[in-house]
Amino acid sequence: MHKIVILLLCFGIIVSGLKKKTVNVAVFLDDDEHYEDTVIAIASVVRRINLYSSVQYLLYPHIFKVQKNEILKTGQTACSLLEKGIAAIFGPESIEINDFIQSLSSSLQIPQFQTFWNPKLASLPISDQPIQIFNLHPSPKALSKALATLVRENDWKSYTILYEDDNGLLRLQESLKQLKPDDPAVAFKALGPRENLRSVLKEVQSSGVAHFILDCEAERIMDILRLAKELKLLSEFHSYILTNLDAHTINWSEVKNIKSNITAMRLLNPDNTNMKNAALVWNQNMKYSFLETVKDPVILKEIQNLRRMKHFKDIKTINIQTKTALMHDALNIFISTFSKLDAVYPVAFKALSCESNETSTYGQHFSDILTQINKENPLLLEPLTGPITEFDSMGYRKNYKLQIVEWVGDRFRISGTWDPALPEKINLTITPAERDEEIMKKIQKRNFRIVSRLGDPYLMEVADTNGRGLYGNDRFEGYTMDLMKEICKPENLNCTFTFELVPDGNYGSYDPKTKQWNGIIKELLEYKADLGICDLTITYERRKAVDFTSPFMTLGISILYAKAVKEPPDLLTFSHPLSFEVWIYIATSYLIISLIMFLTARLNPNDWENPHPCNSSPMELENIWNLKNCCWLTLGSFMTQGCDLLPKGICTRMVVAMWWFFALIITACYTANMTAFLTSSRMGVTITSAEDLATQNKIKYGCLKDGATSSFFKDSNFSTYHRMWVQMDSADPSVFEMNNKEGVKRVLNSKRKYAFIMESSNIEYEMERNCELIQVGSNLDSKGYGIAMPFNAPYRKSINAAILKMQEMGVLHTLKTRWWKEKKWRWSMYQRQTVRRRGRHRNGSGQRGRRLLGSRSWCRTFSTYRDIRIPMECKKSRRRPKVDAQRSSCQRIQVRHRYLG
Ligand code: ASP
Repeated sequence: MHKIVILLLCFGIIVSGLKKKTVNVAVFLDDDEHYEDTVIAIASVVRRINLYSSVQYLLYPHIFKVQKNEILKTGQTACSLLEKGIAAIFGPESIEINDFIQSLSSSLQIPQFQTFWNPKLASLPISDQPIQIFNLHPSPKALSKALATLVRENDWKSYTILYEDDNGLLRLQESLKQLKPDDPAVAFKALGPRENLRSVLKEVQSSGVAHFILDCEAERIMDILRLAKELKLLSEFHSYILTNLDAHTINWSEVKNIKSNITAMRLLNPDNTNMKNAALVWNQNMKYSFLETVKDPVILKEIQNLRRMKHFKDIKTINIQTKTALMHDALNIFISTFSKLDAVYPVAFKALSCESNETSTYGQHFSDILTQINKENPLLLEPLTGPITEFDSMGYRKNYKLQIVEWVGDRFRISGTWDPALPEKINLTITPAERDEEIMKKIQKRNFRIVSRLGDPYLMEVADTNGRGLYGNDRFEGYTMDLMKEICKPENLNCTFTFELVPDGNYGSYDPKTKQWNGIIKELLEYKADLGICDLTITYERRKAVDFTSPFMTLGISILYAKAVKEPPDLLTFSHPLSFEVWIYIATSYLIISLIMFLTARLNPNDWENPHPCNSSPMELENIWNLKNCCWLTLGSFMTQGCDLLPKGICTRMVVAMWWFFALIITACYTANMTAFLTSSRMGVTITSAEDLATQNKIKYGCLKDGATSSFFKDSNFSTYHRMWVQMDSADPSVFEMNNKEGVKRVLNSKRKYAFIMESSNIEYEMERNCELIQVGSNLDSKGYGIAMPFNAPYRKSINAAILKMQEMGVLHTLKTRWWKEKKWRWSMYQRQTVRRRGRHRNGSGQRGRRLLGSRSWCRTFSTYRDIRIPMECKKSRRRPKVDAQRSSCQRIQVRHRYLG
């Protein structure tokens, strides 16, 4: 029905100028919701042109509404029109129908004007006749280039292309061809039918990608964004590039205040004066002007119907589609060219046929004249899509500018322009400085949600001294709290923040089985927090999932071990080289050999001597080897002292010689053992490096479970570290600890049978508080702690700048000194309670502090508690400590106890 209306409408216009020659043109319009706007645009152009006194023609558009699959019907219509003698063809958009019209136009040399994205134009066979197809839409190649440049300018690390159909893929293929090996990683996802959209977006959501190129019909964009909003894919961390040039025409009220960065490209500028004037004329034509020119009562009735049905409301420039404006410009350029052509070579229209090879007579000259349209020979009407002065050899329009627009709260704003003449660059209209200022303004209003975990001294719970309960940030204190306070100071970000603890208490590790992260990283990936701060190490794997600021502390992996404890001297130390049993055997041998000697001397006649040497025939002989002398001789020999009495009998001498030999062996063994024993008891640390640890199995060693330290060993290719990981992983009982505190406790309690591998910053902290601990060897690597955040966070740059500034001004150093050295004796809830409990338990009299003072045993036991670390001097002293500036750390604690008592 509309077709008839429009035809009648145009006919009415034409009736007003019967004296002029008629130029018939065929217009094929797709049957979609923009059909009527386009018809109004055509009618408006036709009317304005036809009223032009200098134009000797009356433009007569034959408008046909075509369905996508009506190839045959449209072909027949086109052929019958050719027989009437048409001067040009406009449209159709439908690719299949266009293929037919396009080839018809090329073979019959009748100009065809296209107003849509058409990749097939580039694949037309090259002929010796001039091209008759003119496409006013930016060429697929140019659009792809623009897209590729936009992605590059946005500095995306990876992105996902959400495409609607194969055409979309084709549209983006060009842009992908331009990707270089080190350009961002790209994933593809077909949107599929409407009912699949949710599952597609969910899949995209779980992949954690934050940047998207969305290629679909303008009408579908809002459906997708609505769903994306529901699935939390429209946060400030997400960015979208819309490839549709009409994205600005849809109703954005539903996602008005979204925080995502949505960028689109467009050929039209709704704020442009030509556009505003055109819309004004279109609206006026519909309301009033037609009534003056159209006299026929039947046509009048149809127009009124049309108005009542749809176009009662004004057409707004913001709603004008690219193809509508391009149709306006196509008619404009056609008739402007045609009137010039007719002035030079008078055109005679002749009836053509689809079945014959006869061509039009003006095709060649038409394209020559078209190329002469320039500033000196302007178009009859102002073009709506910028100057149209050049077409390339394939028929694509050459000179235009694409506007890069971005959604800012309630409207699209122009952020740059792209010119096909300079395809590698986007001409920014908003400078980086202006953008930074905008981000800064937004940051100043915001409250950062921070996710952290408890761990001394980064974040610790504060004692509720009043018993009234603590809320919000008052619950915590520590290095990270102070760091955030500094970052949020007015001279830096001037923002606020709220700390929350990560539910599972983990730093963040990836489980390849479930393909899920845990801990702080998980919270950030699910956008439950804006920042993740604690002693969170920047690792390659984590960096692939979230973004990090530059490090606020540098450190390395090292080994925490317990110092050797010097044992008090023992009275029986001399006996230690030989075991008790050996001593017993020696004593028994001594007695037995003394007895044997006594008996041998008794039996041997040579040991019976004359008591009076002057008496040559004595009555009795004397034997000096009584039991006492035998024992003396064996003792003297054993002690290597010798004896002034020696046997004379051969057998006795043999017994003594045997004993001497035995004594020699035992003495040598004793001396050697004694030396070794004394040396070993003096030896302190038995390991000096990770290699030492790896090559022994007496001292167990472990590290924090599922942290950066364990990943370091797990992923290391270095044989020593890999061996260490295998040992740690296979150890039973487990050598892994859930947190550093547990690891330190285990080192202290294990009597040098366990070493804990942890980060040097934490080792430093623990050593400041416990003299029993030492760091073994140097750092195994070098890394840093950073503030984690989701990718694409707009505040990353500002926080980074604040950290660098604080580093240069020494603020980071001051913070570290405060929490590592100065705040050693933090009086936390846990410690108070522990001390009170211990005090009561010790003396049961209510004099809690007194009993504790000077108590060596308390000192020793207490030293294993949490972060109160008692230096060794403390343990030696039984005296009440003096309160002075030089007092030891332990003494200071004891004095505090007194106040408590
Ligand atoms: N700071 C480490 C992490 O971020 C913990 C560790 O492994 O020592 O995982």
